Amino acid sequence: MPSIKDYSYEWMLERAFKLMPKKTARAQRFTLPKAVAMTVGSYTTIRNFKEIYSTLRRDPKHLSKFLLKKIGVAGAIDEQSGALVLHGRVSATTINRLLEIYVKKYVVCPTCGSWDTVLKRQGRIWILRCEACGAETSVEPV
Ligand SMILES: [Zn+2]
Repeated sequence: MPSIKDYSYEWMLERAFKLMPKKTARAQRFTLPKAVAMTVGSYTTIRNFKEIYSTLRRDPKHLSKFLLKKIGVAGAIDEQSGALVLHGRVSATTINRLLEIYVKKYVVCPTCGSWDTVLKRQGRIWILRCEACGAETSVEPV
């Protein structure tokens, strides 16, 4: 019978690392945060825009471009707060509906349904790569 002394510290350490679950941080269930929109005058601010794009793990520019194009307004990301300012009166319902479309198109893996994906650009083509099943799907550019 080998005693505990027979195992080197390095071996134990290596074994401990191997036993640790690797995907813990990403295993949580994703939920799409509801947009908190505030309209003042002719401007609408999505106050939790940062929370939305960080939850979806998408480039804020990609998401804002999608929203602005679909709504048909100009707008910009506020550098300080991370909020998205739309140059128009837009309801939260409209924004939430568009966010759902965005998730279906640019976040959810069409093969396995996982949200654990990355969106990357290869020349003029956008590829949605799934980190759960490894599938790569080309998606239309925004
Ligand atoms: Zn997948």
